[in-house]
Amino acid sequence: MTTLTPRELELLQLVHDAPGLTRTSAAARLGAGSGTVTTLVRSLVEQRLLDEGPAEQSGGRGRPTRRLVPHPEGPVVLAGSVEHERWRVAVVELGSGVLEVETGRHAGGPALVSAVARGVAVLRGRFGARVRGMGLALPGLVHGSTLVDAPLLGVGGVDWASVWPGGGPVVVGNDATLAALGEARRGAATDADLHLHLLLDAGIGGAVTVHGTVLEGANGAGGEFGHMPLGDPGVRCHCGAWGCWTVAVGGESLASLLGERAPRTSVTYSREVIARAQGGDTAAATAVEVVAASLGRGIAGLVNALDADLVTVGGLAPEVIATAPDVFAAAYRRGLMHHRQASPPRVVEARLGEDAALQGAAEHAWTAVWPSL
Ligand SMILES: [Zn+2]
Repeated sequence: MTTLTPRELELLQLVHDAPGLTRTSAAARLGAGSGTVTTLVRSLVEQRLLDEGPAEQSGGRGRPTRRLVPHPEGPVVLAGSVEHERWRVAVVELGSGVLEVETGRHAGGPALVSAVARGVAVLRGRFGARVRGMGLALPGLVHGSTLVDAPLLGVGGVDWASVWPGGGPVVVGNDATLAALGEARRGAATDADLHLHLLLDAGIGGAVTVHGTVLEGANGAGGEFGHMPLGDPGVRCHCGAWGCWTVAVGGESLASLLGERAPRTSVTYSREVIARAQGGDTAAATAVEVVAASLGRGIAGLVNALDADLVTVGGLAPEVIATAPDVFAAAYRRGLMHHRQASPPRVVEARLGEDAALQGAAEHAWTAVWPSL
């Protein structure tokens, strides 16, 4: 293990944020002379943390400069994500490049924890001491490294730090929270000041980021926007509260609107209803419009409360909005306070898709690893 000077760490983090950055622009961003940057780069290359690309012209009359890239034998982190039917563990280098992935399908239960632990062990075996830490995104309520409540996985109460054999920090977070972090650092929200990310799948959850840092709450359980009473006050949510928004925008709500049986696999059912709506089924279209309106109203309320300048939506939300764009837009606009209506904050599709939580888990791990690099 090495000990970096503050300046070395600063340069390393610059390259992490913008891999391929030239020496010239690194000097400008650090406010340092080219001699200082040359010394910093030499030291980081010797420590196998950075590498340099071939020399190239830096501009008009510019002198040659070189691009700063991750060292091929440099440190990596593992980033894991458990999704509804599959798990993945990726090896992520400085700058967020994914080098290798272990993945498998799962049906929940204790076998899932051991499968992820085996994936971690395989990658630790291949990358050895280069692996410095791990981040893990889980679909449920996370407290510390324990998944407190995850009815879909059937493995509540498990301490997921157990999949990591040690030798560096392991950090665990909720998938929607880490997806927000991924979008803020690597996706559609890199330029936002205060960004709201919402993920709609079996329910709706999300998180807020401020200048690229996610607000996790005191116990890492922030962002449970789905459990605000924006739904029908007469309907009880599985969480114990009445009127939760997550119920109003989930598959059960679509089933109830269509007079169909409550779905066992909510995400698949919602996807089917959206496809039916897009295919011209008017009853399905009306049901999707009700959900789109609820989404628009809820997002407007959150924008009012948080003063967000950008909203990213992932999971099923972009499809719901695309199926009923006018209904969504009208509900969003009507829910905004007067002073926001002239230029409503943009609501855009999350860019990283299913990789958002994985990338967020990697970022979470890097943040934990920096002090010990
Ligand atoms: Zn609830």
